[in-house]
Amino acid sequence: TKQTITALKETDKKVDAFLTLNEEKALEMAKAIDEKGIDPANLLAGIPVAVKDNIMTKDLRTTAASKILENFVPVYDATVMEHIYAHDMVPIGKTNMDEFAMGGSTENSAFKTTKNPWNLTKVPGGSSGGSAAAVSAGIVPIAFGSDTGGSIRQPASFTGIVGMKPTYGRVSRWGLIAFGSSLDEIGPMTRSVKDNATVLAAIAGFDEHDGTTVNKKVPDFTANIAKGVKGLKIGLPKEYLGEGVQPEVKAAILAAADKFRELGATVEEVSLPHSKYGVAAYYIISSSEASSNLQRFDGIRYGVRATDVKNLNDVYVRSRTEGFGPEVKRRIMLGMYSLSAGYYDAYFKKAAQVRTLMKQDFANVFADYDLIMGPVAPTTAYGIGEDVSDPLTMYAGDVLSVPVNMAGLPGLSLPAGFAAGLPIGMQLIGKAFDEQTIYQAGYAFE
Ligand code: GLN
Repeated sequence: TKQTITALKETDKKVDAFLTLNEEKALEMAKAIDEKGIDPANLLAGIPVAVKDNIMTKDLRTTAASKILENFVPVYDATVMEHIYAHDMVPIGKTNMDEFAMGGSTENSAFKTTKNPWNLTKVPGGSSGGSAAAVSAGIVPIAFGSDTGGSIRQPASFTGIVGMKPTYGRVSRWGLIAFGSSLDEIGPMTRSVKDNATVLAAIAGFDEHDGTTVNKKVPDFTANIAKGVKGLKIGLPKEYLGEGVQPEVKAAILAAADKFRELGATVEEVSLPHSKYGVAAYYIISSSEASSNLQRFDGIRYGVRATDVKNLNDVYVRSRTEGFGPEVKRRIMLGMYSLSAGYYDAYFKKAAQVRTLMKQDFANVFADYDLIMGPVAPTTAYGIGEDVSDPLTMYAGDVLSVPVNMAGLPGLSLPAGFAAGLPIGMQLIGKAFDEQTIYQAGYAFE
């Protein structure tokens, strides 16, 4: 832990992955673990980890990269933190992200932009860009992110690491600062598939604090990991290699399909016809949920309160005006609009109907196939500053990642090649609660 923190301070001068360090407490924890002795059955004991800054950490500043929470210190831990402590992992700090997890590049952070360790002029992806960069730069072997519409998988793809968005209901969201509650999921970001499977098993499971967690036994995700892919049926959606996908990305995915065939799997073209409506429907649903979830930041209960105010209404308006960044405001307005009485049927309800059709698309494919493969993002990492002023271009980059959240399915991002020195990510999507088959295929491919 000491070495990790020393190295972190050097590396992070270039990468800017961390918002808050947990130096003193981490060293204390590591010492206590040493004194207690390491349980040989616990592969995670004593390992330094990094945690995205929208996961609440008791007595450790948690900002969601927003000015409105700049000085917020939670009074309780997220359930995921309790699992982290129970497994003797050592959190060394909180990582940078897009404000309230809204974005895909960490450029929406109120505090700083994280750099891609492969090329410091490029974004690391987002919103879990700090966690991705911390693993990719070799600072920690394990980090935690959250994924509402790709925020674990896309930064994993941009930085050449492995990131899992588990099935909705697999991991407790208690203590995760809510963005889109029907889409959000916490998951592990690691260097290898097997590490990822080990970490997921440690944080998954039913939680009485989160009514959407499913009371199912958590399998040993590493049990079948070396079984190979012989006999597996993998679908490759034609919509995932269409227009807008960078040629090198397409080539890497086609090469991956060939590799799976060589390893004994069947890979065939399939169709997810409603994918093309995914981005539009996702931005309506996620923004609607966000507009409701973010009402609690009123300048009274948490974080920063505007000073020099005239009355109560002024406290609300000024705190929110000064505390939220432009992207967060944009989403709140979009969400409020699509939920308002006169527009509900045209927007929110329509988006919810599209969501059902997207789920049905997946169900149709999974009736015949074990897995779906494709790219994570249409491109490799782009330049810092390149897209930030154009929200619609940013949103379009989520086309291949949001369907998984809309359907509540598990999706893994893993490295599948390089273009001009930048990593390309492949996505493996599984049936609900079948992370095991995803890991099995990912491990065979790696
Ligand atoms: N880029 C997407 C968005 O901005 C996804 C964010 C996420 O998964 N948290 O909404």
